[in-house]
Amino acid sequence: MARGKSRLWLIILILLLVLAGGGVFYLWPHLEGAPPEISLDKPVTHLGKSQQVFVKVSDSGRGLAWVKVSLVQKERKGVVLNQTFDAPGAPMAALKLAVNPLEMGMRQGPATLVVEARDRSWRNWFRGNQASKEFQVTVDTTPPRLASLSQIIRMNRGGTGLAVYTVDEDQAIHGVRVGDNLFAGWSPWPQRPKTKLCYFAYSDQTPQGANIDLWAQDKAGNKAVLPLNVRLKWKKFRSDVITLNDRFMNKVAARFASLIPSDRQTPLAKFLWVNQDLRKANNARIRAAAQPAQGFQLWEKGLARPLGAPRAGFGDRRTYVLNKEVVSRSVHLGVDLAHTERSPVKAVARGIVRFAGDMGIYGQAVILSHGQGVATLYGHMSQLNVKQGDEVKSGQTVGLSGMTGLALGDHLHFSVLVGGVYVNPTEWWDPHWIKDNILLRFSEAGMPLPTPPAGN
Ligand SMILES: [Zn+2]
Repeated sequence: MARGKSRLWLIILILLLVLAGGGVFYLWPHLEGAPPEISLDKPVTHLGKSQQVFVKVSDSGRGLAWVKVSLVQKERKGVVLNQTFDAPGAPMAALKLAVNPLEMGMRQGPATLVVEARDRSWRNWFRGNQASKEFQVTVDTTPPRLASLSQIIRMNRGGTGLAVYTVDEDQAIHGVRVGDNLFAGWSPWPQRPKTKLCYFAYSDQTPQGANIDLWAQDKAGNKAVLPLNVRLKWKKFRSDVITLNDRFMNKVAARFASLIPSDRQTPLAKFLWVNQDLRKANNARIRAAAQPAQGFQLWEKGLARPLGAPRAGFGDRRTYVLNKEVVSRSVHLGVDLAHTERSPVKAVARGIVRFAGDMGIYGQAVILSHGQGVATLYGHMSQLNVKQGDEVKSGQTVGLSGMTGLALGDHLHFSVLVGGVYVNPTEWWDPHWIKDNILLRFSEAGMPLPTPPAGN
């Protein structure tokens, strides 16, 4: 009898242990202790009028139960989002939030973006694991203020303009916009950091009547635009007809044989690939190489005129004719200057070598950056004397003239770029143009000509 009783107790004990084990097995995942993880998809430092903030909250355990996002500024507090998640909870929430600090009664200045989250764990008496993260931001809903210090800016189609202006916010980006082209501005005067300058161009490709504005954008995304007072002279470009023949096209095909795709088989197809596809690719590479700029100005009195008798001019509209039919068109984006064969090609101003090597239709070429977005290109050379990264003095020989690339005789192809846009080089070596369009801009703004840093 006693034995039977103790066996019963043993069975009850085993049953209880099994139940407890099962309970632990069932309960354990519900009691996980990993809190939700909070992050911002893109760092947010400033909040403008209406800022998109991307918040990511995830929970690897039981899933999210609740997420709250608020903006806090001293005694002010605004709720951006307060969301609960139904069972079984969400493993992840990617929240695209529109934060409008003004509607929430926030003032300009520092604020804290607070993200709080809870998961569906049964820990903490069923309240779940809690996480919270704070992000320090600056509320700034006022656009930067722009003021032009320039009077009437006269410029030519295909030419360069200079604007001198002020921007009242330190960290804003700014410059000039001409149609679709955006030009970056610079602060070359350490003693007057709010005073800026921007070299810009009215590209020969820009249609008539494009808007020309100063623009600025601050860290919070607030934008300002101010029309510039520009009188544009609508310059007409020369037209040129080039008659093609097999001898010329075969010569081009032979010179670029290693580059021409194999599906271009006729002499004309090969020529068209060089004149159109390769030209386009080369110009894109040149624009990219010419664009990174240092904020200080390395040239002093405009750009020197390279030696040589003028041949083709800037903006020439070229029509290519084969058997009395127009087969191709191009625009000549520089000036051609012919001197004696293999004559020294000199840097037109102090500059930094951004490119030295083979540039397709421009042959052996050098690109120099002269600061504030102004750059020069030297093409068709037979020899290069500099390499990328070199700093060259004004008048230093960068190479020898030649006929590499798409050139029939020994000459220098010379281009000037402003903010990556080709401009008419003749303006830059004309002292009258420099006086009326560059020096006048500085004197009417009451600013000295920016001085280049000491060096060679
Ligand atoms: Zn040329």
